[in-house]
Amino acid sequence: MATEKILILIKPDGVKRGLAGEVLARIERKGYTLENIAWHAATPEKLAAHYAEHVEKPFYPSLVEYMSSGPIVAAVFSGDSVIAGVRSLAGSTDPTTAAPGTIRGDFGRDWGTGNIENIIHASDSPESAEREIAVWF
Ligand code: UDP
Ligand code: MG
Repeated sequence: MATEKILILIKPDGVKRGLAGEVLARIERKGYTLENIAWHAATPEKLAAHYAEHVEKPFYPSLVEYMSSGPIVAAVFSGDSVIAGVRSLAGSTDPTTAAPGTIRGDFGRDWGTGNIENIIHASDSPESAEREIAVWF
């Protein structure tokens, strides 16, 4: 399979809790290559482009509030099958039940905020990755 790219975001909860280095280190240690990295304050416009598939969902307004609650780190990693590999490292969406050993399973939990705060975003397809990289870089 051809070399792929993925866009990851360390979400505001990950940055606030001092987990940016840990998240990046896990992806690097798996063997993927860090291609680009940037510090961002999310804007409503960037989030609408990034989360295009979720803009009409009922949880979208609270997702915007969560994603705007502090700075985020955006990064691009590359490698064969990097999308499947990083999503596997990230774990499933709900951090309460995400498998131990994954980023979300090891560091995330339900904080009673009503938002699913889960440390990391990871693109789910080559098409999403291309669109999301263009949003942040
Ligand atoms: N999310 C939420 N409520 C939901 C579903 C998702 O707040 O019912 C948030 C959560 O932070 C999640 C993000 O929206 O990570 C994107 O949702 P998606 O289903 O794409 O999950 P992911 O790809 O991040 O695992
Ligand atoms: Mg998703």
